[in-house]
Amino acid sequence: MSRRKVPVGPKSLTIGPFVYSVDLKWPGEESIKANHAGQCRYFPCEIVVSEDLNDQRRGEVLLHEALHGIFYNSLKHNRQVNANEETIVDAFGLGLIALMRANPDFMPYLAKLIALSEPK
Ligand SMILES: [Zn+2]
Repeated sequence: MSRRKVPVGPKSLTIGPFVYSVDLKWPGEESIKANHAGQCRYFPCEIVVSEDLNDQRRGEVLLHEALHGIFYNSLKHNRQVNANEETIVDAFGLGLIALMRANPDFMPYLAKLIALSEPK
């Protein structure tokens, strides 16, 4: 029986000017030993998320890797901030999940506001 209740997500994510492919893959023994459940590869524009995650963890890891992409686009030249990338990405990822979970109407509302703000 599969633990997956939510269908597999998007095949790609646009992060800034780049389109990242999104793939579910078995992470391999080295990633498991290093406790890595996902990876954002900047130059080939790939996000890989372990296929062996339940829905909650898959969502958290996918958001985490997308935040790495945002971080890299914006802050890759800031060495001081770069040294703390993992901590910053974790803080925002877990914080955003808690915000969305506690306020389920917030993201759909925000999406409407943003869509309304786009030029026609
Ligand atoms: Zn990370």
